[in-house]
Amino acid sequence: MKLRNRNIEKLSTETFDALVIGGGINGAATAAALAGKGANVALIDRGDFAGSTSMHSSNLVWGGIKYMESKDFALVRKLCKSRNHLIKSYPSTVQEIRFLTTISKGFRHSPHYLWAGTWLYWLMGNGFTKLPTLLSPKKIKQQEPIIDVEGAVGGFEYSDAYLHDNDARFVFNFVRHALNYGAIAANYVESQGAEREGDLWVTKARDVMDGHTFDIRAKVLINAAGPWVDQHNELTGQKTTHHHLYSKGIHLIVPQLTDSQRVLAFFADDGRLFFVIPMGNRTCIGTTDTHMEQPEVDVTADDIAFVLENINKRLTLAKPLTQDDIISTRCGVRPLAIKADQGEDRDFLQLSRKHVVDTNTESAHVSIFGGKLTDCLNVGDEIADEVSRLGVTLSAPSFKWYGEPPKSVKRQFMDQAKQMDLDAMTAPTSSEPLSSRLWRRYADQAIPMLEKIRQDPAQGDILIEGTEYIRCEIEHARDHEMITQLEDFLRRRAKVSLVVPHEQLRQSAGLKEACRVLFGDDADERFKQYFEQNRDTALPPSSAVEV
Ligand SMILES: Cc1cc2nc3c(=O)[nH]c(=O)nc-3n(C[C@H](O)[C@H](O)[C@H](O)COP(=O)(O)OP(=O)(O)OC[C@H]3O[C@@H](n4cnc5c(N)ncnc54)[C@H](O)[C@@H]3O)c2cc1C
Repeated sequence: MKLRNRNIEKLSTETFDALVIGGGINGAATAAALAGKGANVALIDRGDFAGSTSMHSSNLVWGGIKYMESKDFALVRKLCKSRNHLIKSYPSTVQEIRFLTTISKGFRHSPHYLWAGTWLYWLMGNGFTKLPTLLSPKKIKQQEPIIDVEGAVGGFEYSDAYLHDNDARFVFNFVRHALNYGAIAANYVESQGAEREGDLWVTKARDVMDGHTFDIRAKVLINAAGPWVDQHNELTGQKTTHHHLYSKGIHLIVPQLTDSQRVLAFFADDGRLFFVIPMGNRTCIGTTDTHMEQPEVDVTADDIAFVLENINKRLTLAKPLTQDDIISTRCGVRPLAIKADQGEDRDFLQLSRKHVVDTNTESAHVSIFGGKLTDCLNVGDEIADEVSRLGVTLSAPSFKWYGEPPKSVKRQFMDQAKQMDLDAMTAPTSSEPLSSRLWRRYADQAIPMLEKIRQDPAQGDILIEGTEYIRCEIEHARDHEMITQLEDFLRRRAKVSLVVPHEQLRQSAGLKEACRVLFGDDADERFKQYFEQNRDTALPPSSAVEV
């Protein structure tokens, strides 16, 4: 909290080159790019960083193979390059993964036709990933015994990438980098609108935690409010060429269905791609695509029934999945950018998922529409160029603001870990060696953690039962990751509440201890507050799901 309090004070006293509204992937990457390149930047979010759309994605970093069907080859090429760039920049976090796709009899394309498409996809990605392969139903069954090949005519395997640690964690690392480069960021600070005063934007801000209001002054205002971009533009009187449409998507987290570490892809009953995605010792299944009028959405019984029905039809599980198997849910809207004059006759599912930057040069205002996690490095660079065009001097315009530290730093970490035999301390229930885990999550900031463990080996113990989080990570989160509410840690810096059943968490002695580390004297109150605000979130209220 110290960091947040200090930053809130600075927000009201300094004048910034740019204020970024919204700490999802677009805002976080923008803040990191601008701060890295030398601008004096502020970043606020009315909830937690990555607390909205950016914590509900499929966790995939992909070239958008499905857009090949709509012949949006320019977008596919761009996203493939963005995917490769992310894999190269974050080798420990963004990892290539195989997608095994099964094609059922009667599908609109034959497996051979689609397989040819995966070759084109592979070529569009500069042959950066492993080659695609064609699979017979027999071969599919050998590789993934849980797939029902009864009605299958074949399939293929190709590569894309996924986020090992979850989308919200990935986003927070950009916020952390922005802070390291000197940005002033605070979560739970809402913009209530802004006005132009002379050459400056004056934004009315409210600290959501205590209700106090204050002004933030900045030369350029960047609206990165995701699905709420239009709403915020109304508050500031901005007219833009683009607007958002909303497409709701949900995922269900269930016990691990297969430990093969590949994504299983199918075409759901509505013809859309449908995934079974690895998530540590759990599996994430989904998603849906429903046109919504508003960005505020919840999982409904119908959504759950759709996902369960589709998954049970395509797998031969010993016991079909039911709502009792759901550990947690994810639900958000994709903000889809459309031109304001595009009309009502558009095909909703075919709408492009590319991001668009709308700039009002006269008032130094930038809105970011649409986008994907996959495209975040381009968003950061593009907005930095835009801000520079609006007259802000970037002292280090060529600075590389993203990526893991150089190999020499990793070697230093790994050497130290080896010398202290860190991996021997890995709990038998963990899915990977402790050294890989700490490096991936904290990179160079994991080096001081080694010293903590050397001084007190209990710092290497798992604190919350059923997870892989060790004691020193929780101390690190408290000191460096702006944990304002317990949920910030449980759902976003870590993925505890996604993978541990709600009731198990409530009974967890380890969680109570983690609360004491995070909140000191306020621990009991925060614990109680969390369970009051988050009842069993896995299912919608009174969900009589028929499957
Ligand atoms: C179901 C689903 C699956 C997806 N799968 C993938 C995928 O696999 N790969 C991929 O690359 N992309 C995927 N996406 C797309 C991707 O998740 C989104 O494009 C991206 O997260 C949007 O980020 P954002 O920063 O624009 O919005 P958000 O993450 O929503 O961030 C906007 C932030 O603005 C804040 N805000 C709003 N109003 C205010 C205000 N007045 N004051 C302060 N703060 C405010 C909000 O609190 C919010 O945190 C998926 C999306 C969905 C919904």
